[in-house]
Amino acid sequence: MKSTLKITLLGGINEIGGNCVLLEDLGFDVNLLIDFGINFERYNPSFNYDAPSNIESLFKAKLIPRPKGEVLRNLYSKYYIFNHKKQRHGQKVGECKNKTDPPTKIHGLLISHAHRDHYYGITLLNRNIPIYTGVTTKKIILSHYDTRGFRMDNFYTGLKWKLFRTGNIIDIKGLEIIPIHVDHSVPGSYGFIFKTSAGIVVYSGDFRLHGPLSYMTGDLLLKVKELLRRGDPPKNEINNNSRVKCLICEGTHIHKGAIESERTVKKNLKTLFKNIFFNYFLVKYDRGDWDRFRTYATIAKQHNWKYIITEKDAYFYYRLNKKAIYPTMKNPHIRKDDHIYILKQSHRRYPWKPFIENMLKKHEKMWRYIEFEDITNSEGNFFLNITSLNKEQLLESLPNHLKGLFLSSTIDPYTDHFYDDSKTLEKKLLNLHIPSYRINASGHAIPHDIYKYIMEINPENLIPIHTKYPELFEKLLSNKDINVIIPQDKENGFQIEVS
Ligand SMILES: [Zn+2]
Repeated sequence: MKSTLKITLLGGINEIGGNCVLLEDLGFDVNLLIDFGINFERYNPSFNYDAPSNIESLFKAKLIPRPKGEVLRNLYSKYYIFNHKKQRHGQKVGECKNKTDPPTKIHGLLISHAHRDHYYGITLLNRNIPIYTGVTTKKIILSHYDTRGFRMDNFYTGLKWKLFRTGNIIDIKGLEIIPIHVDHSVPGSYGFIFKTSAGIVVYSGDFRLHGPLSYMTGDLLLKVKELLRRGDPPKNEINNNSRVKCLICEGTHIHKGAIESERTVKKNLKTLFKNIFFNYFLVKYDRGDWDRFRTYATIAKQHNWKYIITEKDAYFYYRLNKKAIYPTMKNPHIRKDDHIYILKQSHRRYPWKPFIENMLKKHEKMWRYIEFEDITNSEGNFFLNITSLNKEQLLESLPNHLKGLFLSSTIDPYTDHFYDDSKTLEKKLLNLHIPSYRINASGHAIPHDIYKYIMEINPENLIPIHTKYPELFEKLLSNKDINVIIPQDKENGFQIEVS
C-alpha cells in the first residue's frame, strides 16, 4: 500500500475562520474535506449584509476555494445553488427534484462544529458528497436554518447527512476516522482522529481547556494516547511508529490569553449582584453559546429576575431542549423555566413562529409572551439578551425611568453578529446613561493550554490553522522535536505531503 498523504489547506490559512482542509490518502484512495467555512472578517465588508446570491461572488471575495485539479472537480453542486434574487424558494426546490449532481472524487465532508466559519459552504456542495457531522451539530445548523430567510447560503435541499456521536468510528474504504467531542463555545463540537495510511493525523477543531466541559477535550487526548499504545495504526507496517504524524491545530488565541472561565463569569456576575443598584441588565453573547445562556439565566433565576430573550432565540433553544443528548442542554428549559420571558419581535408570520406561541398557549403560559412596550413600562429586575434584536427598536424601547447596565461578551469572529459592533452600541447606550462591563470566557484555548495540548499529542508535524499568528507556534516549540509547518500560500491553498 502506498502510504502517502497530501494535506492541503484551502482556507483558514493564517487567518481566523474559513477552515477548509483537503486530506488525500493515496494508500486508501480516499479524499476528504474537513470543515467548509468562510472567513467572516472578509465576508461582511464584501457583502455588507446583502447575502450573496451566486457562487462567483464568493470566489471573487476569496471566501471559498475555486476548485483546481482532478480531485476537486465537481466539488460544487451543478443544480442545487439557489439564486434567491432570481427565483422563489419553492420554485427552486421543485426544480431540484430528480436532479443528480455529477460524480465527484470527494468521499465526504466532515464538519467539526456548528459555527459558520466551519460549515457555511455546505449549501454549495455537490449533493453526492456525504456530510459527516455530530447529531447536535446538525440540530443546531437546522435550528438556525429555520429562522433565517430563504437564501443561497441557507439552501439545504438534497444534502446527504451522515451523523455520528463520540464512540462511533467512521469507515471510508478502510480509512477509519474517530470523532471525539471537545469543549468549545457551542455544544456538540468535535475534533477528529484519522487513521491514515501514513499514520495518525489529528484535526483539533476549535477547542478550549478552560470551559465547563473541558474533560471532553481531554477525552480526545486520551484517545490519541490509547491508539499510540496499541500501535494501532498505521495499518501498513512500514510507517508504524509511536508518534502522531501530523496535528492540524487551531490557534485563535495563540497570541493572547485571558485567565477566564465560565466559572469566573458566574463569579463576576455574583459580585455585581452583591451591591446591586441597577434595575436591569442588557446582555450580549452568541446565540449558540449555551454555557453563557445558562450562566446568565441561572443567576437571574436565583435573584428572581426575569430573563428575556427574543422569540427567535426562544425557538432555537426550544428545539435544542427537545431530545437533548447532553443533560446540560436541558438547562435552561424554554418550556419549564417560568422566569424566561419571550419577546415578540414582529407581527410577521414566520414558519417557525407558531411553535413558540402554540407551546406557550398549550401550557397556559401566554403571560410569558411579552411585547416591547412591556419592557418600556417595566418595573425592572430583568436581563434582556439583545444580541439578535434590532438595535434601533431596542434603544427606543428601553425604560428611561430605570437604571440599566450593559454586559458585553466578546462575539468571536465566526458569527453573523461579529460586525454588529459592540463599541458603537456601547456609545449609544452611554448616551442613554447606561454604563457597560465586559464579562467573557472565550471558546478558544489560551496559549498555555494550546502548548499543553500539543505536548500531549507530541506530533511529528504540526500545521497551525485558524490563527493570524502561526509563527508563534514555531517560536513556542523551537526547542521541541516538532516540525512546525507554516502555511505560506494564502491565494492558492497550501499543500504538504506526509509519508
Ligand atoms: Zn468555532
